Amino acid sequence: MDNRKRIFSAMRPTGRLHYGHMAGALINWVKLQDEYNCFWGIADWHAMMSDYADPGRLKDNCYEILLDWLAVGVDPEKASVFVQSHVKQHAEIHLALSMITPLGWLQRCPTYKEQILNLQNKDLSTYAFLGYPVLMAGDILLYKSFAVPVGEDQSAHLELTREIARRFNGFYGEIFPEPGTLLTPAAKMPGTDGRKMSKSYGNSLQIAEDMDTIWGKVRTMMTDPARERRTDKGTPEKCPVWDVHKFFNKDAQELSEIYEGCMTAGIGCVDCKKKLMVHLSEMMDPIQKRRTEFAKQRDDLKQILEAGAARARAVAEETMADVYRAMNLLH
Ligand code: SF4
Repeated sequence: MDNRKRIFSAMRPTGRLHYGHMAGALINWVKLQDEYNCFWGIADWHAMMSDYADPGRLKDNCYEILLDWLAVGVDPEKASVFVQSHVKQHAEIHLALSMITPLGWLQRCPTYKEQILNLQNKDLSTYAFLGYPVLMAGDILLYKSFAVPVGEDQSAHLELTREIARRFNGFYGEIFPEPGTLLTPAAKMPGTDGRKMSKSYGNSLQIAEDMDTIWGKVRTMMTDPARERRTDKGTPEKCPVWDVHKFFNKDAQELSEIYEGCMTAGIGCVDCKKKLMVHLSEMMDPIQKRRTEFAKQRDDLKQILEAGAARARAVAEETMADVYRAMNLLH
């Protein structure tokens, strides 16, 4: 019995993860698993909500994301790692919470409008897509999570979950604690074109990519646009390569030399990028070795997911028993 405070977080299995996922979430997950009873979900139902017309890679993507997690250091002995649809209570709680969630809350949800605009190549005018915040709330409340790890810029997203919990508790009694936020410093990880790193922009450095591939991308990565020639002085704050340096380069002395060198044109961008590659390799080589090893053991991966789902189910069954009792369903 794990008596530590519970926290839940999840990622949608829509493809391989990139350095932005690592910087923004996974490295933090690895720390949290030592302190809290963590439930890390591979949110396949959430992936279905936007990709229902083309689920061909869904199963493979669940394994890809699991490999990325394990490679970075998510430890299935310390945290419950599972696929959302393997714990049927996620679907049950979604239905229960949908009874009490006013339509207007969902229609007004800013992320709903934003996603509809961003994903115009998909028909998202479905019942399920409108209700995705209800499933998200259910995911969190199912584990009576005391908090959810979120980046500094995302804490507003949790508010709807709290409102749904309050409304449920208002009707049926205090069943759900309102989850707080476990703020993580937002590590800025730009993509190769300087925009936010994202698979859909085609600007990402993937965790699974070997260092030759990464160098091919870093070599052509955007720098401070004002530094057209080697002799031009630069401003590191205007350079995405600098942001990546700040995350991966732990050598304070070298960082300050690069900063100074950039400002005075003492260092060229190619040399700056080569220095970055040394630090990327240092961090990513062991991660990639682990990923390759785990990828050979498909049966072990299945077992990790089965064991994680069993642990998640034990908590989820208790919560749903509370929910059915509170809603006065005959059980
Ligand atoms: Fe960016 Fe480095 Fe070039 Fe400066 S020297 S502009 S920090 S790549």
